[in-house]
Amino acid sequence: MLFRELAELAEALAGQASRLKKRAAIVEAISRAHAEAPESEDAGWFALYLAGTPFAEADSRKLNAGGALLSKALLAVSGAEDIELTAAYRRHGDLGAAAFDLLEGREPKAASLTLTDVAETFAGMAVARTTAVRAGLVEGLLLRATPLEAKYLLKLMIGDMRIGVKQSLVEEAIAVAASAPVAAVRHAVMLEADLSAAVRRAFEGTLEAARMRLFHPLGFMLASPVDSPEEAVERFTEKPMVVKAAKKGRKKSESVAVEDVGAEEFRDAPATDVIGVAENEDAGSEVQRASVAAQRVEAFLEDKYDGMRAQVHCGDPEQPGRVAIYSRNREDVTESFPELEEAFSLAASAGVGPLIFDGEILGWDLKEGRALPFAVLGQRIGRKKVSNAWRQQIPVVFMAFDLMYADGSLVLDLPLRERRNKLEAVAERLVEVVRSPVAVDERKKQAQAVMFVEADGDGVERLMISPSRLVESAEDIDRAYADARARANEGVMLKAAGSVYQPGRRGLAWVKLKRELATLDVVVTGAEFGHGKRAGILSDYTFAVRGSGGELLNVGKAYSGLTDAEIAEMSAWMMEHTLEDQGFFRTVEPLMVLEVAFNNIMRSGRHASGFALRFPRIVRIRTDKPVGEIDTVDRVEEVYQSQVDKPVESGA
Ligand code: AMP
Repeated sequence: MLFRELAELAEALAGQASRLKKRAAIVEAISRAHAEAPESEDAGWFALYLAGTPFAEADSRKLNAGGALLSKALLAVSGAEDIELTAAYRRHGDLGAAAFDLLEGREPKAASLTLTDVAETFAGMAVARTTAVRAGLVEGLLLRATPLEAKYLLKLMIGDMRIGVKQSLVEEAIAVAASAPVAAVRHAVMLEADLSAAVRRAFEGTLEAARMRLFHPLGFMLASPVDSPEEAVERFTEKPMVVKAAKKGRKKSESVAVEDVGAEEFRDAPATDVIGVAENEDAGSEVQRASVAAQRVEAFLEDKYDGMRAQVHCGDPEQPGRVAIYSRNREDVTESFPELEEAFSLAASAGVGPLIFDGEILGWDLKEGRALPFAVLGQRIGRKKVSNAWRQQIPVVFMAFDLMYADGSLVLDLPLRERRNKLEAVAERLVEVVRSPVAVDERKKQAQAVMFVEADGDGVERLMISPSRLVESAEDIDRAYADARARANEGVMLKAAGSVYQPGRRGLAWVKLKRELATLDVVVTGAEFGHGKRAGILSDYTFAVRGSGGELLNVGKAYSGLTDAEIAEMSAWMMEHTLEDQGFFRTVEPLMVLEVAFNNIMRSGRHASGFALRFPRIVRIRTDKPVGEIDTVDRVEEVYQSQVDKPVESGA
């Protein structure tokens, strides 16, 4: 098949807005490619290239041709000056479109470039030893190409066709062309990460025989945001239709909900994708909705870590030591985290079989045993060469929170509670094994022998499992949120216990609770005794801002954010400055100033200020700040007004 057919179709698709018409045109082309040469790879290549991918995702080959190399080749072939290329590039913002302008009028004798020629050139580029050889191959292709072909060859080599055709549309077209179910095509593509193989299987009728292989990224499941624990609870207890109806007025969450998958895919999602899992099918009446917080919640709660989402593939006995780490945008980032690669390369020795973990790479404070702020980890992300200095300064761990592949198959369709059980069982066997040293002997490393430089015994455990538990109520979530914040994590995630793993979807089965507004400086007016290990200690503080007449008006209550030592000190201080002892609660002299953070402010009749803070937590004790300088009700009103959604507490 001629490459011209692909270029012409691509050009037509770029000008076609209708998804259905686009699909019909792709179906026609794939069918034709198959009919003309059923034994050839043409139909497969056609689908692959139309999706903008020179190689299948499972294929680790790369063209190694960046913008610089491609522009140089274009200049050589077109004979244009730098300045002309720059002008053309500025006009379109796209090298392919610029090439069309520069090459216009320069037609080769006949369009002769075939898909096979292109595939062979790509294969040559992947193994080319030098840039010169690679550039020569690109020039050779462009010399034989019409301006339109050059346009799409360049776009394809860059990996971005910009014709409004996502892989999911090509998958649909393959299904229609081969009269196979779309779901079967998608499933085969997920397992084998090879669009051209899926074309072959679809026509052969062997889609069902596709088997999962490791070492290509699967899509990541994403979470939708919620603004409060009550909203989270509603998500997991209301019946689907009610959730949908209730969401109608909530543009904000909805628009975020589709940000990653695109409206197109969001619409395609089956009902369960967009509504998540509802455990209580009977809920729905107004009465039940009002008491929703009291209903049973079937969701797991975890901290939301502020690191880098990643998928780890490891443990394949047939490729012992092979590890791949993929980022959320499906890039292979293994090289950037050598200590994780070294550690996970030992997984095969535990005999647990091939595994795919989903989790978060975190910068880890080895002394304190907690995550470093994202800003710290951020300094390392993207580095290809990681020196010992980086390893020591910003050690990394992998915090696993899900298991995608185990026991020889994908486990995405198991409910979360079962995946979680498997994750824990696997981790139990692995945590001790998956280790690597803080630093390595760089000279020996080159000789393939990683030596331990530090006296760190057998190295650092690099695999952690995010603590997870079933939650019961909004109040429970509220506290967990404050605790997570106190551990310097971003917030909490809630995941429906019965939900399956939906790769690449931002569904409602996972929700995230985060967000922080400005902080307020307040004064403590009362203190309450804590629970558990804080029994007998005045650890929960009621605090106030100043009213317009100078009076103190309570605005919230916080119990988290301070260290145990600070709480002990605060408690002793509160005892000494008690004004009125009411048993479990004491009013205290308004002298202690705190800086508090919170998620949002709502109007509420609960406190004298007429406002309540959601998820307040203490950021600092402000001994440096006089009480006269605490924030006012007017300031609270200001922050309240600055919120996009201005919540009002029911009954306020
Ligand atoms: P966001 O980046 O705000 O869309 O939030 C989703 C991200 O939260 C995910 O991509 C993960 O990187 C991150 N995350 C942190 N902790 C967890 C967790 N326990 N479960 C799932 N995702 C998490």
